[in-house]
Amino acid sequence: MRSRQLRARDMLRGDLEGEELERYVEERVVMTNFDKMLGWARSNSIFPLTFGLACCAIEGIPMAAVTARYDIARFGAEAGRASPRQADLIILSGRVSIKMAPIIRRLYDQMLEPKWAISMGACSSSGGMFSNYAVVQGAEKFMPIDVHVPGCPPRPEAVLYGFTKLQRKIQGNPDQGWRARYGAHGTEEWARGGPRGEPSAEAAKAYLAARELIVSA
Ligand code: SF4
Repeated sequence: MRSRQLRARDMLRGDLEGEELERYVEERVVMTNFDKMLGWARSNSIFPLTFGLACCAIEGIPMAAVTARYDIARFGAEAGRASPRQADLIILSGRVSIKMAPIIRRLYDQMLEPKWAISMGACSSSGGMFSNYAVVQGAEKFMPIDVHVPGCPPRPEAVLYGFTKLQRKIQGNPDQGWRARYGAHGTEEWARGGPRGEPSAEAAKAYLAARELIVSA
């Protein structure tokens, strides 16, 4: 600390020169552009909507991530908002019934721009174990989702991990999926007509397109 103070004093007196002065400036000056700064500020001041749908909500943001052990305040996102007009993140924590879907969509539409959505848990991402007429089989069917967090329920750590992925996306530097990272296009499993059925026409076409990606890479 003392040596830093002395160097600052030398710099102010004009005693630092040449290499020493350059190193001093390099250590203290950060160059960026406005978009990056805006992304950084946005990603560290998210206001989540106070909102829950089912059991995931008890594990998630309202009950676990705000507690001292997980402390979402570290990411500047502890200020849950009770009104969608003051929120820019909605965490779908639980199964989405057909009756709830239009209400959630309305809440999402009322939120501030730019806004983001995390689908937390198997139920909101895919219907989970509730493969029936009353539950929407994946929230992406009626609103855009930025990050999916798997699990039933996901651990609070997983929710926070999904949250940091969202932060990187907001900063304009999203993580690649594992298929992109390991060049594994073409390893997807496709929905088939039956246990040994052929892939649907759309699935077969998408599979061929993915194979071409590998060949051209
Ligand atoms: S994923 Fe599991 S914990 Fe979450 S809402 Fe569905 S059943 Fe409940």
